[in-house]
Amino acid sequence: MRYVSTRGEAAPRGFEDVLLAGLAEDGGLFLPDAFPQFSPAEWRALRGLPYAELAARVIHPFTSSGGTGGAIAFEALHAMCRDAYGSFRHPAVVPLVQLDDRSFALELFHGPTLAFKDVALQLLGRLFDHVLTRRGERITIVGATSGDTGSAAIEAVRDRAAVDIVILHPRGRTSEVQRRQMTTVLSPNVANLAVEGSFDDCQDMVKAMFVDAPFRAEMKLAAVNSINWARIAAQVPYYVAAALALGAPDRPVAVSVPTGNFGNVLAAWVASRMGLPVARFIIGANRNDILARFLSANDMSARPVEPSLSPSMDIQVSSNFERLLYSLLGEDAAATARTMREFRATGRMPVPDAAWKALSAKFHGFTLDDEGTLAEIRRLHDGAGYLADPHTAIGTAAARALAPEDRGIPVIVAATAHPAKFPDAVERATGLRPPLPPALADLYAREERFSTIPNDLAAAQGFVRAHALRNAA
Ligand SMILES: *Cc1c(COP(=O)(O)O)cnc(C)c1O
Repeated sequence: MRYVSTRGEAAPRGFEDVLLAGLAEDGGLFLPDAFPQFSPAEWRALRGLPYAELAARVIHPFTSSGGTGGAIAFEALHAMCRDAYGSFRHPAVVPLVQLDDRSFALELFHGPTLAFKDVALQLLGRLFDHVLTRRGERITIVGATSGDTGSAAIEAVRDRAAVDIVILHPRGRTSEVQRRQMTTVLSPNVANLAVEGSFDDCQDMVKAMFVDAPFRAEMKLAAVNSINWARIAAQVPYYVAAALALGAPDRPVAVSVPTGNFGNVLAAWVASRMGLPVARFIIGANRNDILARFLSANDMSARPVEPSLSPSMDIQVSSNFERLLYSLLGEDAAATARTMREFRATGRMPVPDAAWKALSAKFHGFTLDDEGTLAEIRRLHDGAGYLADPHTAIGTAAARALAPEDRGIPVIVAATAHPAKFPDAVERATGLRPPLPPALADLYAREERFSTIPNDLAAAQGFVRAHALRNAA
């Protein structure tokens, strides 16, 4: 399998290069040149497998080399999946919980940091280590976080031999749970920097480090953001597992996904490109509803981000949308590059009407404000005895908005965070404060380790260099 860039100016690559590169050098996103195909009999053969084995079978075709270097043996991948998902707190890894006559919560939050990003990142950390160790290389992951992605990345690579990680967070501006989930990981390859500044200051510093070519090369800087193709590939198996449990491939399913950067719902679309019958994609949004506006009226126009009860969806530009756009535009990389340039320059994305119509036949948008989100959390608790976090609640409300002709189809709702991750909203809605799971119950008693630095690039770079050199020695 070869990977091509959505902007067409980067040379095609094998899986390992795509894993390590993240973004293509032309600014585009990598996609496989053809999607692996599973026949109905091949889907059926996956029914009832342990999740780690199902995941390895679904992901493996994406890692084959296609003659461009970098293939991962099935047994090695299977071992990494077993190791990654062995740390989840539920034996089913991603259990499915029925909410009403046709909605099912696909609980993706049983990993170490209580959010769905663990499912992909736990595997990614192991893939990085596998590939780098074989190549005799090391990398330094640098990232900025306003809360959640930092802890998922740290948990993914803690104690990995070939990876160092430095995560910058704005001092005093994350919640205490979020900070402690990062700073109580005392592994020698993990460093946390509390920056005297805002999240934007942290992000600007990280960007500046990546733009500083000599520094970037010296430190072998890498990112694990959601545009990495391997993250998307690692999210496909849970849709497969849920769909098979609900009767696929002999019966279609719909998915409802609370959406931010579009990575999670894109994985469901990839599953459909592989032959899984996904009849409908419902995209849940909070008041930051650019995608919902696009799907209802072909209006993709960026507006300022507003805070909400579902902060992981407080996003204006969903970076992974570019992969779907490329497909909509008939895999015309030049047209994709033009469209993205215009979007960057004007804040509006011109999508041809025919492409938009084809898309909006399958993808539906749904918007819910904070009041509606609290009402939905209350309704789920009163009706089904189910405690949902605010992101998941947007997904369950969206599932009920399904068009009448789709009413016979079961809906898989991506439950993206554990309710204990957003206890204030859940308590406001239900009067109940969800407790942290036992494995995290002593979080407030654990030792923290972090360094505080001024909002100064040279200070941050000096820290990253010292951290990487110490661990390489
Ligand atoms: C990251 C995140 C999302 C958004 O997922 P995307 O793949 O960016 O669309 C939704 N909910 C939670 C809890 C998240 O952490």
